[in-house]
Amino acid sequence: MTTASVRKAVEATLESICNRTPAYGELTKRFGPVFFSIARMRDALLKQGVRVPEIESARFAAGTPVLVGRDLSPWVEDFILSAKTLFPVLSEVLDLETDVSDCLLDHFENPDSVLGLVQARIEGDWKHFENTSVRPDTVLPTTLLYISEIVSVPVLSAIVETLGKPLSSLTWEHGHCPVCGSSPTISLLSPKEVTDLDSLVGGGGKKFLHCSQCGHDWRFKRNVCAACGNDDSETREILYDEETRSERVEACHKCGKYCLNIDLRECDPQTHLDAVQIGLIHLDIHAHDKKLTPMVSTLWNNFE
Ligand SMILES: [Zn+2]
Ligand SMILES: [Zn+2]
Repeated sequence: MTTASVRKAVEATLESICNRTPAYGELTKRFGPVFFSIARMRDALLKQGVRVPEIESARFAAGTPVLVGRDLSPWVEDFILSAKTLFPVLSEVLDLETDVSDCLLDHFENPDSVLGLVQARIEGDWKHFENTSVRPDTVLPTTLLYISEIVSVPVLSAIVETLGKPLSSLTWEHGHCPVCGSSPTISLLSPKEVTDLDSLVGGGGKKFLHCSQCGHDWRFKRNVCAACGNDDSETREILYDEETRSERVEACHKCGKYCLNIDLRECDPQTHLDAVQIGLIHLDIHAHDKKLTPMVSTLWNNFE
């Protein structure tokens, strides 16, 4: 997708959220610019050319994602450029004071620091965020984590774009992303397929997991918990509102995790899968009330 089409998808998705639930208007206004800036940055990186990582087939077949455990320094300039570009909008969304924002940006402009943070996010090394001291020391490790995630998104999604066909031809049956190792925030059931004559041929409904870090969607078994692999229907549950059955929570009582799910056969197939989650916070709350935790915590699904 190009920036223009991503922008269109984000706009349409946020607009439909506001139309349906005006109470989400404030949030869509706040986060909209983040999605637009990410799309613009990703496009700029693709235009200037992004180094393509090699897919090492033996590691991949053994379940190691493409970018896990590898040196990310070939992309360090991309991460720094992303940080510089996204910081103004991030500071606003996170409500950072100017001096705090400036100190943080200094940190993200340092090649070793930025690589340490994005690498820690990819390796799931949460301790790194607790142990990283940034001035002023009022900056919480979670703030550092969110910034690292958002700064990584355009770079990782540009990398995914370069991997294209070779990636989609490989088998991957895990619940974490084959490229960056992140867990999915949402899963989707694929839209109905359209023939050349534009007549609906039905079908669709294949399940894919969506990675909010790099934007990759990969095929996954329909009746399995992506977090723990549980396929026992007794301990798995689908939660939804009666009037919006195409938007659900897939919950697993074995591991206590949940993942959002959207059925693209029943709504706009161009729905932007990251932006749409802002309009599903009531489902996150519903899951939270049932003592479930999200597979990935985002800026808007964390109620602790
Ligand atoms: Zn990913
Ligand atoms: Zn589970």
